Order: sequence, then C-alpha cells, then structure tokens
Amino acid sequence: MAVYTENFTINTRGFTDIIDITQKVKSAVYNHNIKNGNVVVALAGSTASITTIEYEPGLLKDLPDVLDDVVPMDKQYHHDDTWHDGNGYAHVRAAIFGSSVSVPLIDGALLLGTWQQIVLIDFDNKPRSRHIYVQIIT
Ligand code: ZN
Repeated sequence: MAVYTENFTINTRGFTDIIDITQKVKSAVYNHNIKNGNVVVALAGSTASITTIEYEPGLLKDLPDVLDDVVPMDKQYHHDDTWHDGNGYAHVRAAIFGSSVSVPLIDGALLLGTWQQIVLIDFDNKPRSRHIYVQIIT
C-alpha cells in the first residue's frame, strides 16, 4: 500500500459559497499516473463541507434555498448562546454534509458521473481560506 497526499487552498466568500474543485482534485490525482486506488478529498473544519453535486445554475440556487428552509440562518442556536460567533447554522449544515468524500480511482479515472462535480461548500458567516487535502491510497 502507498499513500500520497496533496493539498491546495481555496478562498471562499462564506455564506454557503459552493465552489467546484473537481479540476483541482483531478490534477492532484492524475499527476501521479496511478491506475487504481481510492481518493479521499477532505478538509479540517466544522463549518464547511465537501460533497458532490451537478454544478449548474439551478442547483446552485436550489441547494441554498432548501438549506434556508431546513437549517435557517436566523434561527436561535444553542451554539451561538455559548460562543456568540453567530454561525450555529453553519456548524449544523456542515455536520449534515460531512467534511470529506471518497471517490474510487478505476483504470486511471475518478468514478464521477458526467454531471457530478466535487464541491467545497463554505457555510461560515465570513470569508475563509480553506485547505483541501487529496489523499490517494493505492
Ligand atoms: Zn461556531
């Protein structure tokens, strides 16, 4: 078994900023010319997530709209009572999506659908700089 770890940094605007990181992940992986393995894309942080979505204008509105209904920003969160940082909603949203995805690498290609992109979603209530890690396990 071998493990290769790459990373890159993305600056976000926060407030459920959805950023397509597929090409950066592909570059990090394909530079190694590995045929088969498992790729984990992860970040350290509890107010942002890594997931996949079809990165098209409709869904880029639909997802935040649904989250505004399910996990509204203006609800009273116990987290904010404790820390007064106003981002209770961001922690809850991030917990729902998780902080990593695992994508199989098969015959030199990541197992992603034609309309499936890997995205960073930053839920925090301010701009952030996020370090994304791509770990290839063969
Ligand atoms: Zn907080």
